[in-house]
Amino acid sequence: MTATTQAASPHVMPTYGRVPIALERGQGCRVWDVNGKEYLDALAGIAVNTLGHNHPKLVPALQDQVAKLIHTSNYYHVPGQEQLARLLTERTQMDNVFFCSTGLEANEAALKIARKYGVDKGIALPQVVVYDHAFHGRSFATMSATANPKVRNGFGPLLDGFIRVAPNDYTALVEATEGNPNIVAVMMEPIQGEGGLHPMRIEYLQQVRALCDANGWLLMLDEVQAGMGRTGKWFAHQWADIVPDVMTLAKGLGSGVPIGATLARGAAAQVLQAGNHGSTFGGNPLAMRAGVETIRIMEEDALLANATRVGEHLKAQLKAQLGALPGVLDVRGQGLLIGVELNKPCGELIGQAAAAGLLLSVTSDTVVRLAPPLILTTAEADEIVARLKPLVQALLAA
Ligand SMILES: *Cc1c(COP(=O)(O)O)cnc(C)c1O
Repeated sequence: MTATTQAASPHVMPTYGRVPIALERGQGCRVWDVNGKEYLDALAGIAVNTLGHNHPKLVPALQDQVAKLIHTSNYYHVPGQEQLARLLTERTQMDNVFFCSTGLEANEAALKIARKYGVDKGIALPQVVVYDHAFHGRSFATMSATANPKVRNGFGPLLDGFIRVAPNDYTALVEATEGNPNIVAVMMEPIQGEGGLHPMRIEYLQQVRALCDANGWLLMLDEVQAGMGRTGKWFAHQWADIVPDVMTLAKGLGSGVPIGATLARGAAAQVLQAGNHGSTFGGNPLAMRAGVETIRIMEEDALLANATRVGEHLKAQLKAQLGALPGVLDVRGQGLLIGVELNKPCGELIGQAAAAGLLLSVTSDTVVRLAPPLILTTAEADEIVARLKPLVQALLAA
């Protein structure tokens, strides 16, 4: 598979093990390849295409924006930034937003806030607590915060200043940090996406919030994958009724237009000042319009409720039809971010599913990940299960 596609793209760096299909257009939750074959999209560009493809409200708005203004410069005010920042802060209890173009950039800004927050307090060598199985991106800082050796290996020396602990183990967190005056922040994904769709428990999130409060540490939540309505609430941490000091967004925020955002509250919102940070593309008018329209359409079309309702249906159907198969260890997730964990590596399912007309991914080697557009219908959810079941059965029988 890899050889075929590398041969097909000799001028593109072979940084991905690609499935040998090429997609050309989409409509709703369906896409078609260059040969006219149809696929049901249960991946949405990895939780990116919030509104599916060719959305009848999003596309005219983006066309309008392209004709007006795509990009200017952060030398000047960009009204869309204020508009989107207000929409985002209204849906959280955050104070302000820095805009960039990707998830790793959003996390990079969060880590810079943490370091300077510490340095401003007189901590010369600030340290940030991160987690086993975490994924925060592939820049030097975010790769250093990431746990997966496949991401990190070969790129040393990585950044210092990270302490790694096990998820959902409060005692371990306390022991790893007790008496350490250099800690400035705890950074985590409320649901570890690339790490196998493992959620942080609600009481754990609340305990970490309290520990951060007691010590003056920033709680920094990476909601790049789990945020923007994917779990049925605007942001995954809202299930635990806590408020972070810093939160990062990207993937689903622009329904496919590149965009990232770092939200901050309280002292964290005052750390970065003029000249401390920036991004050429960050906050450009086209990306801002995509974010504003995504939120507007999600609200108009009640997509949080849809993610909850169709997500529960999809999870129930997966449990009913796959859950009892020997070799299926777990069906878990929230809203339309669902994982089916198998007892063996299942990366080959990505290609097999595509051949069967279904787009999905596999995370952490053994977990089938479903992250369809939030416009998914129950009929489409049933179709996902019907197409997936024989593939999983065959893989487990092999
Ligand atoms: C995808 C992802 C990132 C990185 O986002 P990029 O846009 O690829 O840089 C960071 N954190 C989480 C949780 C992600 O899922």
